[in-house]
Amino acid sequence: MTLEGARERRVRTGGVELCVAELGDTSNPTVVLVHGYPDSKEVWSEVAGRLADRFHVVLYDVRGHGRSTAPQPLRGGFTLEKLTDDFLAVADAVSPDRPVHLVGHDWGSVQSWEFVTVGRTEGRIASFTSMSGPSLDHFGHWINKRLTRPTPRRVGQLLGQGAKSWYVYLLHTPVLPELAWRGPLGKRWPKILERAEKVPRGDYPTSSLPTDAAHGAWLYRDNVRARLRRPRPDAYAHAPVQLVTPLGDAFLSERLYDDLELWAPGLVRRTLPAKHWIPRTRPDQLASWITEFVAANEGGAVPAGEGGPVTATGTGKYAERFGGQLVLVTGAGSGIGRATAFAFAEAGARVVAVDRDAESAARTAELARLIGAPEAWAETVDVSDEQAMEKLAEKVAGEYGVVDVLVNNAGIGLSGSFFDTTPEDWKKVLDVNLWGVIHGCRLFGKQMAERGQGGHIVNTASAAAFQPSKVLPAYSTSKAAVLMLSECLRAELSGQGIGVSAICPGLVNTNITSTAHFAGVDADEEKRRQKRSARLYGLRNYPPEKVADAILRAVVRNEAVVPVTPEARGAHLLSRFAPRALRAMARVEPPL
Ligand code: NAD
Repeated sequence: MTLEGARERRVRTGGVELCVAELGDTSNPTVVLVHGYPDSKEVWSEVAGRLADRFHVVLYDVRGHGRSTAPQPLRGGFTLEKLTDDFLAVADAVSPDRPVHLVGHDWGSVQSWEFVTVGRTEGRIASFTSMSGPSLDHFGHWINKRLTRPTPRRVGQLLGQGAKSWYVYLLHTPVLPELAWRGPLGKRWPKILERAEKVPRGDYPTSSLPTDAAHGAWLYRDNVRARLRRPRPDAYAHAPVQLVTPLGDAFLSERLYDDLELWAPGLVRRTLPAKHWIPRTRPDQLASWITEFVAANEGGAVPAGEGGPVTATGTGKYAERFGGQLVLVTGAGSGIGRATAFAFAEAGARVVAVDRDAESAARTAELARLIGAPEAWAETVDVSDEQAMEKLAEKVAGEYGVVDVLVNNAGIGLSGSFFDTTPEDWKKVLDVNLWGVIHGCRLFGKQMAERGQGGHIVNTASAAAFQPSKVLPAYSTSKAAVLMLSECLRAELSGQGIGVSAICPGLVNTNITSTAHFAGVDADEEKRRQKRSARLYGLRNYPPEKVADAILRAVVRNEAVVPVTPEARGAHLLSRFAPRALRAMARVEPPL
């Protein structure tokens, strides 16, 4: 997706001529995208393309950048006041009668904070989505508070952000930044972005980069010191604000935004595991959040578009992170899978509930919608069936999109000594518990990797993965394999922003006991054992909702191996520090 097909016009204002590009139907709500440093409007090309079927998308090169002309002289030509004049000139040209929805990244966000907090733009801005660029006024107050009322924590925060701002000091030195950008740095920048930020090569950065970066140094010189020293006391937002925080931002600390609700009441917060250049690395997620926020502030009056319907904001404690994301859970018809589907639904995620049992999958999807999922679908598939899984992956990608979080959870129980376990028993348990996970990772993981916008895979293993038992040879082997597969895949995908977690619960009160197969006994004895184990698990009474919570937390924190339940945590510790004790316990006949 590029700016191809965009309509261009020039807007004259304050001695400069701005290059403005427009996409989409002008009768739709207008979204204005403001780029940062050292960028031009093309940084938005991926996001703009995704928004254009619903919105009138407007991008402009900030003065001195891209194909906009530079002020003469440069010094004093980039003040926030002048940048506000430019924004108003663009807004008046492209949307004279309706307020616009503003989106800013980096310095585009810094200046947009000015637009949305000064009186003369009141009524012209319908909403503001900010990413990786704080208000200099808020930043100034943040520093003052830490200097005037220092606590060890506050001083730590100050030093932390101070260290991340090294480039700001450099940009204040005369001439050097210009020489660097027009010389070696300008040449190497695309490679640096690719290596350090994982920004894919393409139509960005553009050839104007050295000039953009040299001119843009004045954004800092004209504003930063003056504003941080004397921040405006009344920098309150007069439009609703959505804050998108990439958690791996090398330039900005999350703590900067701690007090933001004071300046922007009703603030909507979003977080994502990514680095600074999210318009390039996470365009799908940004387009979805921008769409959602604009829709919420247009009273829902947004055209349907091709990118799926507009999503609603979730309410759970993880809504910041999962709202609008696509989550697929296998074995979602019961127990841990169902509880996990519900937890993601509560966080506002779109849920695909997969189970071999059609009715229970449908029920999960129906309840997920009631709980808060903006959309939920049921899919009936046996995860061990390679072709059925291939079809599912194709359908999901075609109809719902690329999955952001995949939970390979479907599994079956099998108990019995090694010699009682038949080859058919082995095949069955490995087919579902291991091959089901392999198919899921292979098919949906590949789509995630190919999209190049990160994601997360959760595999439900078990404490049995590291705790041997003489009565669970096949089940434990399948789970140990899932654990190792998860670790290997985690290593392979780490460079692509895709996390992999293995969840290892102990005894959880679900249906698994009543469907588990007991090898080597007749049907009556099997029924009796199922009943007995169900009773035992019932007495233990560890709810699947707690496992679901651990799953969401594991995704948020990108945890590798997560033992859930005290007995699983204990066994995990023993497996590392006292494996002999576990081996001794493995010989004990369990009370089933
Ligand atoms: P459950 O029986 O309540 O739910 C499992 C779901 O998976 C069911 O809805 C079932 O229809 C579905 N399923 C089974 N085979 C399938 C297949 N081939 N294709 C599609 N769907 C299939 O069990 P649960 O306890 O919620 O188990 C979920 C996962 O947690 C399993 O992998 C299990 O091994 C693991 N686990 C459970 C416990 C526990 O104590 N319950 C402990 C550790 C690990």
